[in-house]
Amino acid sequence: MPIRSPLPVLATLTALVLGACGQPADTGGAAATEDPARLQLVASFYPLEYVLGRVAGDRAEVTTLTAAGVDPHDVELTPRTVGTLAGADLVVHATGLQPAVDDAVAAQAPDTSFDVVPAADLLVLGESEEEHGAHADEHEDEHGHGHGAEDPHFWLDPQRYADVADAVADRLAEVDPEGAETYLGNAADLRADLEALDTELAEGLAGCRTRDVVTTHEAFGYLGARYDLDVVGITGISPESEPSPARLAEVADLVADLGIGTIYAEPLLPGGIAETVARETGARVLELDPVEGITEASAGEDYLEVMRANLAALRTGQGCP
Ligand SMILES: [Zn+2]
Repeated sequence: MPIRSPLPVLATLTALVLGACGQPADTGGAAATEDPARLQLVASFYPLEYVLGRVAGDRAEVTTLTAAGVDPHDVELTPRTVGTLAGADLVVHATGLQPAVDDAVAAQAPDTSFDVVPAADLLVLGESEEEHGAHADEHEDEHGHGHGAEDPHFWLDPQRYADVADAVADRLAEVDPEGAETYLGNAADLRADLEALDTELAEGLAGCRTRDVVTTHEAFGYLGARYDLDVVGITGISPESEPSPARLAEVADLVADLGIGTIYAEPLLPGGIAETVARETGARVLELDPVEGITEASAGEDYLEVMRANLAALRTGQGCP
């Protein structure tokens, strides 16, 4: 008899207790009812949920480990949510973005998970596409990783996001060969949508008065790399790292020196950081959404709509013709 981890048992008990109280059983979106005829897919957070929904369509039920409105970087998983991973046909995640998910996937779904990071071709934070190309070989030395911290926010570059969707479709075709044609066709449709968005962004962000963009957390490096914007995040790559007073003063000086008129806040983060810098410098605050989750407060109902709202905000904030 195979040795089983005690976790599924615990998860079942937790589910029964919570279910009996009539409470929402989980912070994650794990499905309560499973349709055995459909593939059970799990996405670690919204951008991968969107890809799975578009690519798998009606052939799958997609659940998400990061509830809407929760900052995906510091997501914590309940035992019940962790337990659902073992029963999924495929868990799609991006290593390095969510440590709790990486641990749970390694323990519960080592053979039924798909890491999109290789397909996303991550840049090291602060690296340009040109620098990336120049030392692409170097990336493979020693540990097979770059030397700096890799920026996980690949979905903010529509071209990288389309590459990820194609890779997810290929993997789904392996898991469910009968659906292969559907998956590849849907991924091609998604790619067409993303390429149209890419064209809109490139045209909409051409000729702007300023190319310096100050955001709250360091999420928009790929947008900057793709559309030639110099993006500075007030906090680090993970938004829970509170900026020090020294960092706030440093960014305020930069804003004043460069004559930046707009600071961008984020819907999932508590207000205050962008506002603090704006108050000190006389800049206005607009919203730029890293599309890490969709809520009532989002400026659109899906990735494409929110990205178009981001483009509109950038065109206003950066003074684009
Ligand atoms: Zn982020």
